[in-house]
Amino acid sequence: MPDVMKTLLLNPPSFENFDGGASSRWPATREIESYWYPVWLTYPAGMIPGSRLLDASPHKVNWQQTIQICKDYEFLILFTSTVGLESDVKLIRKIKEAQPGMKIAFVGPHGHIKPDETLNASADIDFVTRGEFDHSVVEYAHGKPLSEILGVSYRKDGKVVHNAERPQLHTEQLDALPFATDIYKRDLEIERYNVPFLLHPYVSFYTTRGCPALCTFCMWPQTISGHAWRTRSTDNVAREVKQTLEYFPPMKEIFFDDDTFNIRKDRVLDLCAKFKPMKFQWSSTARVHSDYDTVKAMADGGARLFIVGFESGDAQILKNIKKGATVEMGRAFMKNCRKVGIKVHGDFIIGLPGETKETIQKTIDFAKELDCETIQVSLAHAMPGTELHDTMAQQGFLKVEALADSGGHQLPHIEYPHLSKAEMMAGVNRFYDDYYFRPRVVWRIVREALWDGHERKRLYHEATEFLKLRAERLKWVRQGGDFDKPMVSVPAVPGTSSASGND
Ligand code: SF4
Repeated sequence: MPDVMKTLLLNPPSFENFDGGASSRWPATREIESYWYPVWLTYPAGMIPGSRLLDASPHKVNWQQTIQICKDYEFLILFTSTVGLESDVKLIRKIKEAQPGMKIAFVGPHGHIKPDETLNASADIDFVTRGEFDHSVVEYAHGKPLSEILGVSYRKDGKVVHNAERPQLHTEQLDALPFATDIYKRDLEIERYNVPFLLHPYVSFYTTRGCPALCTFCMWPQTISGHAWRTRSTDNVAREVKQTLEYFPPMKEIFFDDDTFNIRKDRVLDLCAKFKPMKFQWSSTARVHSDYDTVKAMADGGARLFIVGFESGDAQILKNIKKGATVEMGRAFMKNCRKVGIKVHGDFIIGLPGETKETIQKTIDFAKELDCETIQVSLAHAMPGTELHDTMAQQGFLKVEALADSGGHQLPHIEYPHLSKAEMMAGVNRFYDDYYFRPRVVWRIVREALWDGHERKRLYHEATEFLKLRAERLKWVRQGGDFDKPMVSVPAVPGTSSASGND
């Protein structure tokens, strides 16, 4: 065996417009094509000499091409997802047929939650990683035997062996990781990445890992990234920002795609002081607990937009999902953002525990009162590995286990005795209609595009897709909301994304 195995890190091709991206919060087929960067794969890619990161979907690399590319490699690290697993298993069968000696690791939250099930899905998988996999796969590529690698599960003598857990990387270790942007420059085309509410082209990476909040529906902190909030040093982040600005002159903004960017005030202030002289535009995730001084410092440091998970306008629902934030905090935060000129993309969810027809209306009214620049309304989805999933299953509200139809579109899978899935879907439709079909909101969206040809084209495309999706949703509700019928339940509207980024 050579010193280092020739390694391909793969975000696999799958359904058309499928964003199971190695950072995607809701792996699903998008109605408005949008892609997040496969950030998690960049770190091992940067530590395995001679490796390549192939992000198939955005680069329009199909199965045949992927199989062909694999022939040049001896170790494949594939980022799988709950929705994409079945397709990924079929793909690696073909890869093994073409390249029988290929070693294959499956990484990502699905394998972390269900290592046995993932391994048993295919004899072609050599091992599955649990937790943060950066160093697990790097050690394997450098020839370390599986039995000595922490955080992996594999088969031995017909039985599944789970090695001891791998401790999460701590704060100091994050600075030692390679920069994601070096791998973007080497292997990816940034123009391929589009998220409707972000400027195009954008570049995103993380400044932290984990989130201390306990939101019961949120997958990443309950699976791979964890609740321990670990930070890169502000100098280290500033160095990557500087490099990003040098590497990608056409880039319009940086998106800090942390689970939550603004957890600690002193760190935000420190970062923004370093950002300010660099004079660049950025957006980020944010919780609603930052005060005026923090938000002002962010505006001064170049912040353009925050993605904020308000989730619900009902106080009890926010408690039920352990949001750790109140509607009053949401109002105050929004007011401060407006004062300093930072736009907000607000995320709302319908169908969380405690939802009724009345609370749906309350949330619609709350959203209109907040009047964010753009919104995204999702039906509650209980991803495996989350507290919401376990509670819904225990209480009998999880009507189907399947998260998506055969095209990768998310399916509604929660229903309450007092609130049917059709009523929830109707609520989503009404939410969007009430919110967006207000003259001032229409004007706000159109105004942006008036003088910018690129944005105009994008808006036209997104508006067409939105109206198509709206018609599909209305039809689905009219037909009674059949669980077995393919239905697109993660709506996307002009200026929003169907990739949930609740914070
Ligand atoms: S929704 Fe946001 S704040 Fe809540 S746990 Fe997830 S990342 Fe943290």
